[in-house]
Amino acid sequence: MDIKKDVVVVGAGGGGALLGLILARKQVNVMVLEQASGPPTGLRGEILQPNGQRILDKLGLLEQIPLDAIRPVQFFHFRRVGGKRLCTVDYGMLPSPYNRALVMWPNVVQQTVLHVFESEAPGALQYGATFKRILFDGERVIGVEAEIEGKSIRIGANLVVGADGPFSMVRKELKVSSQLHQYEESYLVAMLDGQDELAESQYFVGKQTILGIFPAAGNKVYVFYMIPSGALSRMKEGGTQALVNRWKAIYPELSQTFETLTDWKQTAYMGTGRVRAKNWVTEGAVLIGDAAHGMNPHASQGRMQAMVDADMLGACIETCMQTDDWSASALKNFETRRRPQVTMLQQLADEEVFFWNSGNPVLSYLRDRVFMTIDGNPRLQYQVLTATAGLRETPPFSWLDRVQAAGLLPDPRAQKVPVHS
Ligand SMILES: Cc1cc2nc3c(=O)[nH]c(=O)nc-3n(C[C@H](O)[C@H](O)[C@H](O)COP(=O)(O)OP(=O)(O)OC[C@H]3O[C@@H](n4cnc5c(N)ncnc54)[C@H](O)[C@@H]3O)c2cc1C
Repeated sequence: MDIKKDVVVVGAGGGGALLGLILARKQVNVMVLEQASGPPTGLRGEILQPNGQRILDKLGLLEQIPLDAIRPVQFFHFRRVGGKRLCTVDYGMLPSPYNRALVMWPNVVQQTVLHVFESEAPGALQYGATFKRILFDGERVIGVEAEIEGKSIRIGANLVVGADGPFSMVRKELKVSSQLHQYEESYLVAMLDGQDELAESQYFVGKQTILGIFPAAGNKVYVFYMIPSGALSRMKEGGTQALVNRWKAIYPELSQTFETLTDWKQTAYMGTGRVRAKNWVTEGAVLIGDAAHGMNPHASQGRMQAMVDADMLGACIETCMQTDDWSASALKNFETRRRPQVTMLQQLADEEVFFWNSGNPVLSYLRDRVFMTIDGNPRLQYQVLTATAGLRETPPFSWLDRVQAAGLLPDPRAQKVPVHS
């Protein structure tokens, strides 16, 4: 081996960078390999949900994110395309201090984590380092081979962590069987200069139409628009004005803001997929984040779940260090504890895809009924919100709740929600 480490992490994205920092703080000799040449800079939207806020706060990172890049939002108004308000979701119901969503400027969370990691553990993060293959001793993983600055380097480790995203090469090399589902709908995102009053988030649902509009810091507006997967080039042929006109028809109040979209460079395409890896732990290797369980953005939890993985795996690795036990059975506890929440969120997101993305009038009718019930039923609203906020592991609705949400049975407990001091 050219280098020997306790842990090698492949990928410095939402999960890998945070895991690197957590491990470095626990005195674990860690190396994080990232193929990109530096921190990400491209456009992407990001909502920091309460569970993500809590983890970053615990690590002292939330306070290091520039305040002028953060916009707290309490209310999300769901509307039918055409205008009618269906439901308002109030994050104020959640326990303080994380009783709001934070709409972030693109990449600021990631840049902050990377900056703190590099300053606290100089040399532990290696940019321009591309994972090539896993090194095995029999069945056991003993390290990786990576290409760094054109040179092939062999890095030995007690544990290799695949944090390399939905198309994980580490997963492939480990021969972990997995399902990769690509959804029929993806998203176009844009960050525009706000020209109109937008205090709260608006989310329009209609016949095969979703348009999310979130206020961001610095009077910016983050727009999230559903398009058929792979339809971007066709859409571009129509020009930006055609898109602007569609948005204006959905929400005329924001016409001036939409008119600031004049170049496709102001937009980014966000493909959607779901990953279900059969197992996340093998002898000497672990998968985290999208490599293990990528999910549809309806869950609003992709990055959050990668961070929860990092937090929990960090604690698990600390025990491995103390006991000098790096076996799959010692690490399996991580997977066992994490699976329920991830599975629940993937299912919830898929149900939302089924009802929200639909052009079917019956499904759309049911969707709207559920929104309207939730609007007047704080108990059900709280249950759904705690799932999206990452604060629960169990499904938000029982079968009885579903029947009540569809308005088929009255709910005598509708006003019952936990009271937080
Ligand atoms: C446009 C967009 C908007 C999103 N908005 C949200 C949102 O609002 N909220 C939310 O929770 N989630 C959001 N997501 C999803 C979220 O970004 C992911 O779920 C999250 O980043 C997963 O973290 P990860 O660490 O598993 O993977 P990633 O963040 O994808 O990181 C993987 C890293 O591995 C690196 N890598 C890959 N292959 C190799 C290799 N061979 N060698 C070395 N490095 C490699 C990649 O360069 C990358 O840096 C969004 C995603 C997109 C694309």
